[in-house]
Amino acid sequence: MSAISECVLCGCDATGKAKVEGVVVDVCDRCSRFGQPIKNIEYKIRKRKISSSLDESVLAKDFHANVRHAREKKGLTQEELAKKLSEKHSVIKRLEEGWKPPMNLILKIEKFFGINLREDVVDMTVESELDSKKLTIGDVVDIK
Ligand SMILES: [Zn+2]
Repeated sequence: MSAISECVLCGCDATGKAKVEGVVVDVCDRCSRFGQPIKNIEYKIRKRKISSSLDESVLAKDFHANVRHAREKKGLTQEELAKKLSEKHSVIKRLEEGWKPPMNLILKIEKFFGINLREDVVDMTVESELDSKKLTIGDVVDIK
């Protein structure tokens, strides 16, 4: 192979790369219009959802105290709160004793009281809608 690559379309000295029918090839200036010049390809990283499993590091250590405070502030008994959340009284009772409730219940309580029971966690949904990142000739990656 010579140091200078040849344009696959016409055989003259290639000046860049282009994607022709899905394949990255060397092309010259004139031929690059037949393909999709690599440097103009833009791509976006799709929104990626990191599965948000709730573990103790996420749930605030004193979440149960927070629930109790929020409940008492509203002047609700455990039973009344249970009713409002469509949960069993025992669920609320256990929760205030420090039992780790399932995620849906946590969300329900947070919504009901307008409080946050979790530690400050970086938003679980990574909105990495990066600005269209332009590729340079050097970044010859296979984009599918
Ligand atoms: Zn050419």
